[in-house]
Amino acid sequence: MSFESALQATRDRIHQAEHQTGRTAGSVQLVAVSKHFPVEAICAVHALGVTAFGENYVQELVSKSDALAALPIEWHFIGPLQSNKTRLVAERASWVHAIDRLKIAERLSDQRPSNLPDLQVCIQVNVSGEASKSGIEPEQTLEFAQQIATLPHLRLRGLMCIPEPIAQSQTLAAQFAHMQALLAQCQAAGLDMDTLSMGMSADLELAIAHGATYVRVGSGIFGAR
Ligand SMILES: *Cc1c(COP(=O)(O)O)cnc(C)c1O
Repeated sequence: MSFESALQATRDRIHQAEHQTGRTAGSVQLVAVSKHFPVEAICAVHALGVTAFGENYVQELVSKSDALAALPIEWHFIGPLQSNKTRLVAERASWVHAIDRLKIAERLSDQRPSNLPDLQVCIQVNVSGEASKSGIEPEQTLEFAQQIATLPHLRLRGLMCIPEPIAQSQTLAAQFAHMQALLAQCQAAGLDMDTLSMGMSADLELAIAHGATYVRVGSGIFGAR
């Protein structure tokens, strides 16, 4: 399948899911996850109107954002981040989706260049409760969000999750609903948050049904990795 038809199929799925679940048309945004794909593939998808690209690995974010600096691309860092790499991300990304340690968030805030707008961030929640998974425990969400919201050069936008790939759709639906409730809890406590980053190629409809505002789609657009 060409990038054009794969992207169109993904957009159709998003629009259909918005329609079928009573969401406002255009309320769900797409991050095209380009990890492991070369800059040529990103250029091709950018030429089709996609402006937000997601990367998981700092080295790929650095090499691709430098190579494509002339294009108006908004880079979303969606992977785990170690403290010795925060500066590289603070200098290049518009968004970081997987914040789960205060120390990393503090470094990103400190290292955000003053000529750039505040770095937009989401907190990763380990909503599936897997021992091996990154993300904060769901019960800690509000307290952690209140801490992140005080950092001067970050703008806390919302919550993000990566459910278990093998989860049954009923389990997934419960986890997405839990995320929606956690966001509502933060909003009720007065935090100005509007984003749920959840849903990937396999489960974006279910995520949209539960309030996703960003879906992160890789293989559905670029093909198998
Ligand atoms: C790879 C990845 C995606 C995209 O997954 P696909 O199944 O290829 O759509 C989304 N989010 C994160 C955090 C990823 O690592």
